Amino acid sequence: MTDPSIYNVLYIDLTEGKHEVQERRDLFEKYLGGAGVAVKLLEEECPKGVDPLSPENPIIFTVGPLTGLFPLASKTVAMFKSPLTRNFGESHAGGRSAAAIRFAGYGAIVIRGASRNPVYISIVNDKVKIKDATTLWGMRSSYAVGRVLREVEPGAGKRTIMRIGMAGENLVRYANVVVESYRHFGRLGLGAVFGSKKLKAIVIVGTRSVKIDDVKAYTKVYEEIYKEVTETGVMSKYHVLGTSENVLPLNMLGALPTRNLMQARFELAENISGETLAEKYLAKKIACTHCPIGCIHLASLRIAFAPGHEYETLIIPYDYEPIYALGSMLGIGSAGDVLRLIEKIEGLGLDAISTGVVMAWATEAYQRGLITERETMRLRPNWGEDVEVYIRMAERIARRANEFYSALADGVEAAASKYGGLDFALTCGGNEIPGYHTGPAALVGFITGPRNSHLDSAGYSIDQKALVKPMSDEEMIKQLVEEERVRNVLTSLVICLFARGIYKLDRVSRALETLGIRRSLEELMQLGAEIQRAKASFKAREGFNPYNVRIAKRFFETPTPQGRLTEERIMRMISMYIDAADLKDIYRA
Ligand code: SF4
Repeated sequence: MTDPSIYNVLYIDLTEGKHEVQERRDLFEKYLGGAGVAVKLLEEECPKGVDPLSPENPIIFTVGPLTGLFPLASKTVAMFKSPLTRNFGESHAGGRSAAAIRFAGYGAIVIRGASRNPVYISIVNDKVKIKDATTLWGMRSSYAVGRVLREVEPGAGKRTIMRIGMAGENLVRYANVVVESYRHFGRLGLGAVFGSKKLKAIVIVGTRSVKIDDVKAYTKVYEEIYKEVTETGVMSKYHVLGTSENVLPLNMLGALPTRNLMQARFELAENISGETLAEKYLAKKIACTHCPIGCIHLASLRIAFAPGHEYETLIIPYDYEPIYALGSMLGIGSAGDVLRLIEKIEGLGLDAISTGVVMAWATEAYQRGLITERETMRLRPNWGEDVEVYIRMAERIARRANEFYSALADGVEAAASKYGGLDFALTCGGNEIPGYHTGPAALVGFITGPRNSHLDSAGYSIDQKALVKPMSDEEMIKQLVEEERVRNVLTSLVICLFARGIYKLDRVSRALETLGIRRSLEELMQLGAEIQRAKASFKAREGFNPYNVRIAKRFFETPTPQGRLTEERIMRMISMYIDAADLKDIYRA
């Protein structure tokens, strides 16, 4: 039998200032943990049609039965109603978050209500306190908040510190939550939900242990996984260059969105590639708890802050997505400039992808005369020319400096609806796009995935396979649906998706068995399908329908490596997806 502490759900009510623990064996036995349990808690806790920035919108964190026990089961799922898309919100982060929640004795934490005054939550095992955060509120940088909390809270080395920056306080709809400085609940605006609850941070310290009944069986499967992770090359790409390795191949294919996707090749890609960053800026690599890979690449950047050789050295995490969004999308071809932007934007507590796409739209809108210096407050954005312009733009977004920046703070869709330029406002389902203009599978995946991003079904990978061995649209859809279901299983456990090549479902089944949880392959796939339906039902309930989604013309203007896409083909594939995923009763044409 698995350690029963996983069944504990900690409910914290910020309006009442109270908390309680309930045993929810019913949820964990059926849905394992992570995304599966979270979507059920979201159904229970989030009333239909609620304003995502109202106290009724819950924040749900979940981990799974493998957390703390198996390598790379290192992530936490956050679920909420997204202030950006106004439907389903899900975001994952690693760092120490998952281990801290599990070793504090919980499988899930649910935050309800809202505080009247700024607070942070401190959880040390079963001691839960809601503490005053008046002095932290108003701090511009999420990094500074972390530094203060490290001083005043216990548990160094065993704690997670999740916090928001200025953007979250000002309810920027794509504000992030920073975890351990270098990891993030990045997408879909969890930071704004924190801000709406006057919740500045959560510190969790877990020092308990987790019981294993059959140590022999557990050790056998653990060692098998550990060996494959560390002694084969399956995961080495994540350690060597990390995800920034993708810059050059995607550029070579003509799939790297550049200058607001006016192009899909960037002539300066070499300068911002993983290879260049590693040679010139890489300082070290670190890992989430219980991960032997260490894919988190940290750059060191020296900035002169005064004459006379006065320097500050910044340590900045980098990955493919921020490099695309704050590099090629803005035409920025200097690695140093991209790093400066990443540091600024993440310090302000903004999601890097959304911010880059928003600023790329603003640059094109300015150049087309849809907005003027009156709106930009005298800034003149011009592709890649002056990074300072984009730094100032990000600051103004984070503080909603005027009506225009406030529209930008509500996302590209909102800004373009007000100022024009929807044809080149690059969102799918209201979420700003990730960096893959690879072909139809990616675009259909952005539209049909519950998070409206590449993370749900990895269409970008299917497109690249189709370049090597051509496949029909039907085959692409079959693979998208299957991948989404498999990912639902992995994220219920909550395994880092970089390890999806290691955690094949038969191995997942064996790992679970060592903890007394018996699930056949078929049962796991069934669970994946059930979670897929639950997420789609939530989206539909909140008004989302992939049949009615706006698809910007720009997607069809700029050719992909598989040629130019057409709206008719994409709509046909969306319909095929709904059939193949058995969602016809949820999404109606
Ligand atoms: S591979 Fe990277 S993101 Fe995944 S758990 Fe390891 S360090 Fe964290």
